Amino acid sequence: VNAIESLAAIVGPGNIFTDAADLVPYLEEERGLYRGAALAVIRPGSTAEVAGVVKFCASAGIPMVPQGGNTGLCGGGVPPEDGRSVVISTERLTRIRAVDPVDFTLTAEAGCVLAHLQQAAEDAGCLFPLSLGAEGSCRIGGNISTNAGGTNVLRYGNTRDLVLGLEVVLPDGEVWNGLKRLRKDNTGYALQHLFIGAEGTLGIVTACVLKLFPRPREVATAFVALSDLEAALPLFARARTASGDSVTACELVPRRGLELGMRHVPGVRDPFTSPHDWMLLLELSSSRPGGLRDALEEMLGQALEDGLAVDAVIAESAAQRSDFWRIREAIPEAQKKEGGSIKHDVSVATSRVPEMIRRCTTAVEAAMPGVRVVPFGHLGDGNTHFNLTQPIDADKSAFLARWEEMNRIVHDIVVGMEGSISAEHGIGRLKVEELAHYKPAADLDLMARIKGALDPLGLMNPGKILRRP
Ligand SMILES: Cc1cc2nc3c(=O)[nH]c(=O)nc-3n(C[C@H](O)[C@H](O)[C@H](O)COP(=O)(O)OP(=O)(O)OC[C@H]3O[C@@H](n4cnc5c(N)ncnc54)[C@H](O)[C@@H]3O)c2cc1C
Repeated sequence: VNAIESLAAIVGPGNIFTDAADLVPYLEEERGLYRGAALAVIRPGSTAEVAGVVKFCASAGIPMVPQGGNTGLCGGGVPPEDGRSVVISTERLTRIRAVDPVDFTLTAEAGCVLAHLQQAAEDAGCLFPLSLGAEGSCRIGGNISTNAGGTNVLRYGNTRDLVLGLEVVLPDGEVWNGLKRLRKDNTGYALQHLFIGAEGTLGIVTACVLKLFPRPREVATAFVALSDLEAALPLFARARTASGDSVTACELVPRRGLELGMRHVPGVRDPFTSPHDWMLLLELSSSRPGGLRDALEEMLGQALEDGLAVDAVIAESAAQRSDFWRIREAIPEAQKKEGGSIKHDVSVATSRVPEMIRRCTTAVEAAMPGVRVVPFGHLGDGNTHFNLTQPIDADKSAFLARWEEMNRIVHDIVVGMEGSISAEHGIGRLKVEELAHYKPAADLDLMARIKGALDPLGLMNPGKILRRP
């Protein structure tokens, strides 16, 4: 009770929740894989309040779990079941401090919802290019802490590439001010990069300086039916070359993904008159209008002639473009409605994606006859969501009980191909054991030393990314 009273004195009594009903949304995550418990949820309204809360928790030995929009897919923002931690929510840190269309920067607090930042950039005539399915609810501090990827990585990079500076409350409550707006700064270690992708294990991001870009003024989007999976690679390379490197998205859609979408998600339609096994959503954009659509059309015409593509449709309107994106975005939603899914968020060198998909498909189908493989996503980044939908009429929990076995099969192949077991979603709780299994000992040792140096008490999101010491 004393701890709660002390914390309430820092943030105000209305900003600390202890009632079970108030806590629920902060204790469960998107997929329902984890349900944690907490002493309280604390909602500081300023960097100084975050620092006060962290300082108090550090002195009282209370573990802390930072949380943004709670849309993470690895349980990183969910507290453990022991109920000893507090959740520190950034949801009141929602101030945009500055938008500078000359520097092309935006300075914002960590709790800003991604879609609001996109809008603020647009209002200033600029683009903040980070874009993902959860953009209406994820928060920029969460995006930074997971180094989120999304659909524009090809052209603009991951979140890491979009951050110039950070402000962070360290695990002892000190505020580290690295809110720089510099494009160049070689003054020793690039400290902000330690916190990007750290999933809240090294401190709480309270504010950031982000890079903006000129707004695209021409966008050309096509849905392409491939002659086979392997044809995706030369087609993607040709699109880059033909458009002066203006490809902003290259997303793989398999037949099964489209069919599941048509079955379960309103508005999803097959853009082609006959069925195709593999399709690509290809999008080009440029801030200098003129010529992009023509380049796309010419490139696709040649690809049809050369047998790389067997059909293609270019969006003629914004509505048709969003129909194409709907097909892509509907896949995970449709999979959820089809029963259990076992998921893999893997990457390999882009040139090896088709080989990876074929090898993993053969291996999982051999291990589980009837399993429905749905590999889709960011082909241009070498990142495939290699998801498995349960066999028709299978028992969902019996299927999900084989999660680790399927992971091992897929991850062994991916790591054997010098790939990654987590391309964009992070480690959280979900992949702590997988990371311990696959990451080289020297890497794990360095990571543990960094964690120990910044958080010697081990109170900042313990048990996430790394095993508890
Ligand atoms: C429909 C859907 C689509 C998605 N698509 C993508 C996608 O395309 N690409 C992609 O990369 N991800 C995707 N995700 C995953 C998720 O949206 C991202 O990981 C997002 O960046 C998480 O942001 P959040 O604010 O919800 O973070 P949370 O879930 O709240 O937290 C994520 C992690 O960051 C930590 N954290 C949060 N805020 C802070 C902070 N201020 N300081 C320190 N640590 C913090 C938490 O402790 C936790 O470990 C998707 C999720 C959904 C539901």
